[in-house]
Amino acid sequence: MKKLVGIFKQVIKTIQLSIFLSRCKLCGSLLVLEGEELICSECKAEIMPVDAPVCKLCGRIVENRHRMCGECIVKPPRFKKHLSYAIYDGVLKDLILLFKYGEIKKLKKLLARYYIEIIEKRINERFDFIIPVPADKSRKRDFSPVYEIAKILSRRLSIPLLRGNLTKIRTTEPQAGLSRYKRLKNLNGAFKVKDPTRVKGKKILLIDDVYTTGTTIKKCSELLAKAKADVTALTLSRSM
Ligand SMILES: [Zn+2]
Ligand SMILES: [Zn+2]
Repeated sequence: MKKLVGIFKQVIKTIQLSIFLSRCKLCGSLLVLEGEELICSECKAEIMPVDAPVCKLCGRIVENRHRMCGECIVKPPRFKKHLSYAIYDGVLKDLILLFKYGEIKKLKKLLARYYIEIIEKRINERFDFIIPVPADKSRKRDFSPVYEIAKILSRRLSIPLLRGNLTKIRTTEPQAGLSRYKRLKNLNGAFKVKDPTRVKGKKILLIDDVYTTGTTIKKCSELLAKAKADVTALTLSRSM
C-alpha cells in the first residue's frame, strides 16, 4: 500500500512539474535545473565555439593559423577581420532559426552572450559604433533579429549603436539557396551608406547572424570601407 501511495505521489509530482515548468524549446525536455531558461543545459552544451585554426581575415577554418584562405589571397575582403562564434549546424542552427522565424524573442539574450564571449576573448579592440546588417524593409515585420542583438551588445559593451546609416535601399531575394554568383548579383546596389561622414575614420563592429559565402558582410564592408571606415565583422555562425 505504502508503495502504491509513493507511486501515486510521484505521478502527481510529474504532472505538476509538466504543468508548471517550461520545456526546452529545442528538445522538449523539462527545464528543472537552476538557471535553465528556454533551452536545457544539455542542448546548450552542444554549442561549441570554433576551436580550429582560422583564416586571419575571413575566419574560415584553415590548416595553419597564420595563413589566409585561398579566397582571401585572391580577393581580399574590405573588412579587417571577420569572426564567427560557431559552425552553423545542429543546436545553434535550430536556435538561430527559432529566433529568426519562430520569433521567440526572448532568445536574444542567450544569443547575444555568444557574441560577447567572442568579442571579449578574441577581439581586443575598442569600437566607435556597432552597425547591424540592415534587413529588408518590405518583409513587413517589426522584428529585426540582428538589430535586437545589436541593441543588447551596444548596452552591454557601451558601444553606441548606429542604425539607419548603412541602409537597404531595395528588397532582395533571400540569399539562402542562391549560388555564389547569384548572391553577388542579388545584392548589387542593395545597400547604401547614407551619410559617409558619420563613419569616416571610425572603427565599426558590423554584426550579422549567419556567414555563408560572406557576400552580405563583404558587400556592407565594402561600402563602409569606401566611406573610410575601419570594419571588423562578427557573426554568430558560419557554414563550413
Ligand atoms: Zn533541450
Ligand atoms: Zn579567408
